[in-house]
Amino acid sequence: MPETQLHIATKAIHAGQFPDPSTGAIMPPVYMTSTYVQSEPAVHQGYEYSRSGNPTRTALEANLAGLENGKYGLAFASGLAAENTLLHMLKSGDHIVSARDVYGGTYRLFDRVWKQYGISFTTVDTTDVMQIKNAIQPNTRLVWLESPSNPLLTCTDIEAAVEIAHQAGVKVVVDNTFATPVLQQPLGFGADIVLHSVTKYLGGHSDVIGGALVVDDDELHEQLRFLQNSTGSVPGPMDCFLVLRGTKTLAVRMRQHCENAMIVANFLQQHPEVDRVFYPGLADNESHAIASKQMTGFGGMVSVELNGDLERNRRFASSTKLFALAESLGGVESLINHPASMTHASIPKAEREKGGLKDTLMRLSVGIEDAQDLIADLDQAIARSRHAIVKKNQKPSACENGLGQLNRAC
Ligand SMILES: *Cc1c(COP(=O)(O)O)cnc(C)c1O
Repeated sequence: MPETQLHIATKAIHAGQFPDPSTGAIMPPVYMTSTYVQSEPAVHQGYEYSRSGNPTRTALEANLAGLENGKYGLAFASGLAAENTLLHMLKSGDHIVSARDVYGGTYRLFDRVWKQYGISFTTVDTTDVMQIKNAIQPNTRLVWLESPSNPLLTCTDIEAAVEIAHQAGVKVVVDNTFATPVLQQPLGFGADIVLHSVTKYLGGHSDVIGGALVVDDDELHEQLRFLQNSTGSVPGPMDCFLVLRGTKTLAVRMRQHCENAMIVANFLQQHPEVDRVFYPGLADNESHAIASKQMTGFGGMVSVELNGDLERNRRFASSTKLFALAESLGGVESLINHPASMTHASIPKAEREKGGLKDTLMRLSVGIEDAQDLIADLDQAIARSRHAIVKKNQKPSACENGLGQLNRAC
């Protein structure tokens, strides 16, 4: 059966995977080699040097292409290495229209690295696709989308954004890290380039840093392949092996991430001490309709603001026991993160607030533990964070005796 007709859970396990021809090993070996012996000068078996190509990486790249239903996958040392390599396609004077609510490191790469080489960018709210249209200039080369976005989990209508960009002859990049190809396949909506931090769900076990690009177009692939080799932004074979081990269970993991996140979002939404829950799976979420249209599930990320001030929310983040306080996301274990001081600290406060990212927002990466245990953990953390505030407010001042009466000595 041609691979493209297989379902994603099958492709996750089989795409790009063949028994090793010399031993029959069912798993692709980790080819720890920098170079390959040639029988005559320039006569080799497809590999010359491991920056240009390595069989373990080839197996991963074919797997990633299969997952995204694309023709070509390219693996990188990190998500940012993938982004940086892609940005080398631009020239000084070019312009990018970017979603405002993007990964902090993406914003930093635009603002602090590429800007100084004459690449300008405009951030807009891409959930309103007319803002994309209005921001496109004659020198715009890329429209950069992230859907669902990080950390507000807003969704952009990819098909509509692609139509607008393509009318202006502009290519579209979709950072599909949060959705994963199990839930959303941007190439199918006409996007030109799909980007991943494979560090997150594709790796899935918080044990490897990696990135990927997937494209359909032959010319674009050639250009990116050239840049991948020329800039040397490649992952090592062991990292490729770890990601391949991760992608095999991607479909089952995502099913559980989605189920657990929905339970957590519903729990938080009905909690009287929660101000706002951000999850596209909730019927009253502003992105619910778009997410339902272009995704097959709503993902494992949930953001939340408890009522009360920043201190209360920080106290909450420090009080969870199962949810570890850490950057990153997409692993089997649950994490909690404070975007304003952690993952998104590199975005200026004014810019963060323009996009609706408040300092009190906490982001949860809901893992695949038992959902009831996760809820119990959040419940106790909310209770503990409340206690801290009450204690602070009721603490007798130095001039009170604890019964509200003034101490004579004061
Ligand atoms: C983490 C992340 C990146 C950057 O990837 P690294 O692997 O950390 O370099 C890019 N985009 C999104 C949405 C991410 O979450």
